[in-house]
Amino acid sequence: MTVTTVPAYAAPAPKAPLERTEIPRRELGEHDVLIDIAYAGICHSDIHQVHEEWGPALFPMVPGHEIAGTVSAVGSGVTRHQVGDRVGVGCFVDSCRECEQCLAGTEQFCTGPNGNTGTYNSVGRDGEPTYGGYSTRIVVDERYVLRIPEGIGLDVAAPLLCAGITTYSPLNRWGAGPGRKVAVVGLGGLGHMAVQIAHAMGAEVTVLSQSLRKKDDGLALGADHYYATADPETFGQLANSFDLILNTVSADLDFGAYLRLLKAGGTMVQVGAPGHPVPVQVFSLIGGNKALAGSMIGGIPETQQMLDFCAEHGIGAQVEVISADRINEAYDRVLTSDVRYRFVIDTATI
Ligand SMILES: [Zn+2]
Ligand SMILES: [Zn+2]
Repeated sequence: MTVTTVPAYAAPAPKAPLERTEIPRRELGEHDVLIDIAYAGICHSDIHQVHEEWGPALFPMVPGHEIAGTVSAVGSGVTRHQVGDRVGVGCFVDSCRECEQCLAGTEQFCTGPNGNTGTYNSVGRDGEPTYGGYSTRIVVDERYVLRIPEGIGLDVAAPLLCAGITTYSPLNRWGAGPGRKVAVVGLGGLGHMAVQIAHAMGAEVTVLSQSLRKKDDGLALGADHYYATADPETFGQLANSFDLILNTVSADLDFGAYLRLLKAGGTMVQVGAPGHPVPVQVFSLIGGNKALAGSMIGGIPETQQMLDFCAEHGIGAQVEVISADRINEAYDRVLTSDVRYRFVIDTATI
């Protein structure tokens, strides 16, 4: 198979700083789309994988699964996208297409022989490693390419492909909407999307953040209330208040304290994940028929639904656009939560 070579930023080894390099992209297949990448978001999970914190990883690694750009060529069999279309690519670029999950449009849970193919740090069906969005071009099968509606800038759309769907999916599934009280724990890359989306769905939104430092931002994004979790009074004041709590932080939390904030029948959903087991007193679930749940990104149909919803409601990520030579500095700043609220790489600078 012939390949083209494109510029990219890669980590050559675990924990190594990212540096400019060249990577191969496969020749356009019958059902492939060639995308000129305009922007790539920096997700905290990029850093986890570069640091090899989620198990053995593939190097060199080109991270990036929040990709927005424009179609510049299509294979002969492509029907879903045309040259010039504004498109995005999220966390996976292929799956078995035959299992129960793939047929249901929840490809993120593909149970085929190799599961789904990650956008990077994964091996494609051609046996070659996949490389992500910190590059100028990418080739992806048309089924795994999303439409980005007019009306959302590509820079603010890029983070929707991971942070957007990660928060939209549980809010959608657990019925955030008019008459429902939703708490969002943490106002970071995920939380700032959750607040906007839950507000647009019509829910009454409360932010639970460590301090009141970002209160003005939270209210501007659409939150109705904002409380500091460092204030011990918060947990007494808000007992039995929420239908749904969406926890976006991966730090250790006292799950029991948060479960007490749910109304009877309420659900607390994790999208942030501590790296080790968390103790839960089961009586805090039994008393009040409460549920503790998890949620992982979303399938292709729901991701498209999310993009259409965000365009309709004028929702995008709050971004700080950076040049590629600032990726390593941006990683350091993500680790200290010094970003409001997502770094996006201008790939023209690669
Ligand atoms: Zn991500
Ligand atoms: Zn499958």
